[in-house]
Amino acid sequence: MLGGCSSMNYMYYVRGNPYDYDNWASITNDDTWSYNNVLPYFIKSERLQDPNIWNTPNAAFHSSEGYLGVTKQYEKRTNKYLQAFSELGYNVVLDTNGNYTLGFTEPLLTMANGYRQSTAKTFLSPIENRSNLYVLKHTLVTKINFDEYNSAVSIEAIKENKEKITISANKEIIVSAGAINSPQLLMLSGIGPKKHLEDLNINVIADLPVGENLQNHISGISTYALEKIPEQSKNPHKYPQPTVMGFATMSNLQVYPDYQSVNLIVDSDYLLENCAFTNSFKKEICNTFYKQAKGREVMISQTVVLHPKSRGRILLRSINPSVHPEIFTGYFSDAADLENLALYIEHVNRVMMTSYFQGVNATFLIPPDCISNEPDSEEFWRCYALCMAMPMNHYIGTCAMGSVVDGRLKVFDVQRLRVVDGSVIPNMTSGNTNVPIIMVAEKAADFIKAENSYSH
Ligand SMILES: Cc1cc2nc3c(=O)[nH]c(=O)nc-3n(C[C@H](O)[C@H](O)[C@H](O)COP(=O)(O)OP(=O)(O)OC[C@H]3O[C@@H](n4cnc5c(N)ncnc54)[C@H](O)[C@@H]3O)c2cc1C
Repeated sequence: MLGGCSSMNYMYYVRGNPYDYDNWASITNDDTWSYNNVLPYFIKSERLQDPNIWNTPNAAFHSSEGYLGVTKQYEKRTNKYLQAFSELGYNVVLDTNGNYTLGFTEPLLTMANGYRQSTAKTFLSPIENRSNLYVLKHTLVTKINFDEYNSAVSIEAIKENKEKITISANKEIIVSAGAINSPQLLMLSGIGPKKHLEDLNINVIADLPVGENLQNHISGISTYALEKIPEQSKNPHKYPQPTVMGFATMSNLQVYPDYQSVNLIVDSDYLLENCAFTNSFKKEICNTFYKQAKGREVMISQTVVLHPKSRGRILLRSINPSVHPEIFTGYFSDAADLENLALYIEHVNRVMMTSYFQGVNATFLIPPDCISNEPDSEEFWRCYALCMAMPMNHYIGTCAMGSVVDGRLKVFDVQRLRVVDGSVIPNMTSGNTNVPIIMVAEKAADFIKAENSYSH
């Protein structure tokens, strides 16, 4: 849809850690992507509407002038949970989007005045009357055409009424179809792994590792039933539920986080919906959890492995652009990811020892498949992590900087073709991906303007 996943995501505003971008700079051998050089672009797009952060030193990391409205959640119900995490030694902070990103907090959200800040609403709507902008909705781009010098010259597309059209480019073509479909489109157009393209009889324009290096965050859900609460009437439009978000390490010496902890404070009905619908866990798990949690406050805790080592890939299934590509997620293909997920979930589970959790006789809900494992054993935590594993929606890496595109996001070995979306991110950031991708787009806009400074 217009605005892509930003039009349906959970709206957490998370930039990641300075280390992430210094790592991109070293992968691409291009200092443009170092933290100091990307920070101005995070700031540029933001319109922070929070009175409290402005009164702290972290104000230096924010702006009130960009297109993207950002607010912070304040909910009294999170206090006792923040207190519990503080007892475990985590810092409770106002903002995790400055230089120091560790600690627990209520999240910043890409919401303003109660409205979702999708990229369509925030960046396109204000300029919809510009004469040099034309948006074709419900139109599938099927191919990029190249001339004899390997310059991208036009695209082919199919409109909603099935009309086929060709659109020529005077200057360049920018692909922003996301980490699943950008590699699909490049491969359909002859840019990709030579052998794979030849197997499908696609004329090879450039032999590049398109579709490889697919990354996503993997997480695990743990559920806690807490104090008894009265039945409440619910407002289905209210978003989000009270949330405590944290970024934590396993070592006190480290400044970048190993895991993210997203804790929703809900009731048992929400738990059932979240378990069965949002996360599609097995019926037996959801029924067991619901029975134990009925009538109690519930903390749904999502522990995210921030630096997964597993890699997947995207391959074409067909030369028909309407056929979805094949997605090999590769989850847990590197054994360290399952080991770390189990470790991090166990680390968060120390929350059971805190005074609030002890005081209300909290119950840690265990999926039936793991009941027979010795409690607290390595097998138990591995079983728990496997039963309750949940991929995030943070796909990146399939047209990565350094291997498919250069530091200015131009596709290697061809001309006049750029990719600007999550697929160019070479290595996962320490958090959700929407805002890092918006930063990439802000930088791309400056690259394009600088390269066209003498054109109209
Ligand atoms: C359910 C969900 C929850 C999430 N929650 C959060 C969150 O809370 N915070 C956060 O930071 N991130 C979150 N994310 C991740 C974040 O939203 C995405 O990483 C980001 O929006 C991806 O941006 P993108 O531009 O790379 O790709 P996309 O958003 O996927 O955009 C690609 C666009 O290209 C279009 N397209 C694809 N192929 C073609 C084609 N051939 N022709 C024409 N158009 C095409 C698609 O329709 C889409 O509009 C979430 C994602 C999901 C799905």
